[in-house]
Amino acid sequence: EHFLQRIKRLDGEFNSFVTVTEQEALAQAKAADAARAAGKDTPLLGVPIAHKDIFCTQGVRTSCGSRMLENFVPPYDATIVDNYQQAGAVVLGKLNMDEFAMGSSNETSYFGAVKNPWDTRCVPGGSSGGSAAAVAARLTPGATASDTGGSIRQPASHCGLTGLKPTYGRVSRYGMIAFASSLDQAGVLTHSALDAAIMLNTLVSFDPLDSTSVDAPLEDYTADLGRDVAGMTIGVPQEYFGDGLNVEVAAKVQEAIDEFAKMGANIKEISLPHSELAVPAYYVIAPAECSANLSRFDGVRYGYRCDNPKDLEDLYKRSRSEAFGDEVIRRILVGTYALSAGYFDAYYKKAQQVRRLIKQDFDQAFADVDVIMGPTCPSPAFKLGAKGTDPVAMYLEDIYTIATNLAGLPGLSIPCGLVENKPVGLQLIGPAFAEQRLLGLAHQFQ
Ligand code: GLN
Repeated sequence: EHFLQRIKRLDGEFNSFVTVTEQEALAQAKAADAARAAGKDTPLLGVPIAHKDIFCTQGVRTSCGSRMLENFVPPYDATIVDNYQQAGAVVLGKLNMDEFAMGSSNETSYFGAVKNPWDTRCVPGGSSGGSAAAVAARLTPGATASDTGGSIRQPASHCGLTGLKPTYGRVSRYGMIAFASSLDQAGVLTHSALDAAIMLNTLVSFDPLDSTSVDAPLEDYTADLGRDVAGMTIGVPQEYFGDGLNVEVAAKVQEAIDEFAKMGANIKEISLPHSELAVPAYYVIAPAECSANLSRFDGVRYGYRCDNPKDLEDLYKRSRSEAFGDEVIRRILVGTYALSAGYFDAYYKKAQQVRRLIKQDFDQAFADVDVIMGPTCPSPAFKLGAKGTDPVAMYLEDIYTIATNLAGLPGLSIPCGLVENKPVGLQLIGPAFAEQRLLGLAHQFQ
């Protein structure tokens, strides 16, 4: 009731929820009370959370921030939604996001922009802007989110939160509406590493319904929060401190790294030489995969359908043109072009080769260091509308986060200070399946 009232009172200003499931939430809370009274316990019994509107929820509209799915009510739950239900969580509703998770500001949502609770003239980041704003405004203690190129870590940085993108394959993608399948990964946004660890314990599962789900042993992510920082080696990539980085952000990130040095960590300058190729490679691979994934939205089987189509072609064309926003259309066009005969080798294949080089940079770095640290974003949250007409300026928001997705590695953003009175984030990148290590280091810092 506390959180539902806060949502009612405050979310008119932030626009972080697309759907509030008030009746269902109250019923779940009652059921949790009854279960507790009967002596039952589950890890998140009665704990309120909210889901990014990219995760299918049975019987509850799942819009993915798009007119295309404005009235889509899934007949099944995503695996992660089911996991939280089994754990006893109470779901407050579904959270706003950039359309089909394409964006870095939450301005491409069909349901309107989300505002940053730290400064409502600014964006919360994206694409999980609704998740970040809702947690930052304390409308929910934690939220699920997804990260294809930075969509958990960048909003965490802009909203002063802890945001974790797990290793690719660690979390089931079943029932998460696909953007770029080889990069998409679900994760969490919370106020602390401890909360993130608790939420991760439920998020992670092996899922035969997702062919890329990894059947690795389950871990207790709270187990290593007491980790000793002394003796750990932290790699600091010189490429992450170049020209595009705001000098005050650089100073805050450096102070945070110095803090780890004081706790006994060894700091080592490293190089990730192909870093500058991450954004261009991503903006071939992600649109290519999106153009294939979004071809299912054809106005026939589900989703938006135009009025009075003349014939089948008119139905396809108008349904898609009317229901997809400009950014989604741009990605579909770029991706279709990059995959077409005659261009495939020059663009898609080349981007995949670059992806391998980026992965090898990380493999080499992790032969010498335990964790990599640097900025999450080049600057603090920007004003609404400031990058609206310049897609490339928007794409550069993810310059430090995208390589992690291309390499499939876990990444975490934690708050490390204020610049212009707005939060900025420190990014921790680990080798595959090193989530415990990242959370332990973050907890020691917090
Ligand atoms: N901002 C990036 C994009 O628009 C990443 C989005 C994401 O991680 N979902 O593609």
